[in-house]
Amino acid sequence: MVVDNYFTGTKKNLEHLISNSKLEVMRHDITFPLYVEVGQIYNLACPASPVHYQFDPVQTTKTNVHGAINMLGLAKRTRARILQASTSEVYGDPEVHPQPEEYWGRVNPVGIRSCYDEGKRCAETLFFDYQRQHQLDIKVVRIFNTYGPRMHPNDGRVVSNFIMQALEGKDITIYGDGQQTRSFCYVDDLIDAMVRMMNSEEGFTGPVNLGNPGEFTMLQLAETVLRLSGSKSKIIHQASLLDDPKQRQPNIALAKAKLCWEPKVNLEDGLKETIVYFRRLLAAPNKA
Ligand code: UDP
Ligand code: UDP
Repeated sequence: MVVDNYFTGTKKNLEHLISNSKLEVMRHDITFPLYVEVGQIYNLACPASPVHYQFDPVQTTKTNVHGAINMLGLAKRTRARILQASTSEVYGDPEVHPQPEEYWGRVNPVGIRSCYDEGKRCAETLFFDYQRQHQLDIKVVRIFNTYGPRMHPNDGRVVSNFIMQALEGKDITIYGDGQQTRSFCYVDDLIDAMVRMMNSEEGFTGPVNLGNPGEFTMLQLAETVLRLSGSKSKIIHQASLLDDPKQRQPNIALAKAKLCWEPKVNLEDGLKETIVYFRRLLAAPNKA
């Protein structure tokens, strides 16, 4: 069962699954209660791109907090195992590098990213309190920057922005000097890890970092996208974003030990697949 309010998702992404008789798709916003019968719940609700989560910040906090309460209530009633898609944003602009799960983070509670960062932090709190108070079977993963095919061309995050700009011959927009770093995980690797976490031994709750430790500056990313796409676009610098974390890299020792997992797809290979996807989308916008 797929539950989505389609704020940033699209039905097109489910097209290849529609003929599967086991699939059920439901338009619903989890800030409202949901009464269904389930055995496992993956809570991925909430836009993850700063542009989209800052569009309606109050709704973002509601999705993270009310949404988590409703999904935990659902798990409590059905006794379903429940996995929370948390985020590297819980570490904020970190002074510890790379970030291990024990690090408590450095988050601005009143900034423009707070609706997402603090919303996700509060969701983690709720998960652990439902576990302590109601013995729920919880799993929490902290997802670092992830990318790949089926991202929305207007997602607004850096990988899709750079690829779309490169393919359309537009300027590549780097916010600030481009020395800030991120570590990018290809979507297939992430999904593999999430399924492993959902089916991991009982009592292993996490939080566990999931991401690819390969760390790159935004300037390196821009240059790599230009090279792989063969684009002649120019790199330009725009004003840096408020509260933009300067560096981010996961320590994935826990995921390696507990889930026997590590990412297999390096940045170049993942970018190639993603470029192919966006090329196809541009060639036939209604078919891809
Ligand atoms: N809830 C839901 N589906 C369910 C059970 C509960 O959406 O199958 C929602 C319901 O809105 C409730 C919330 O989850 O307010 C939290 O549930 P819980 O049982 O923890 O709280 P209570 O109902 O005791 O306030
Ligand atoms: N970024 C950029 N140009 C863009 C979009 C993003 O330089 O067109 C930078 C942004 O300032 C940040 C990094 O890329 O330092 C990652 O941004 P993204 O929105 O993808 O994710 P997040 O900041 O949440 O990690």
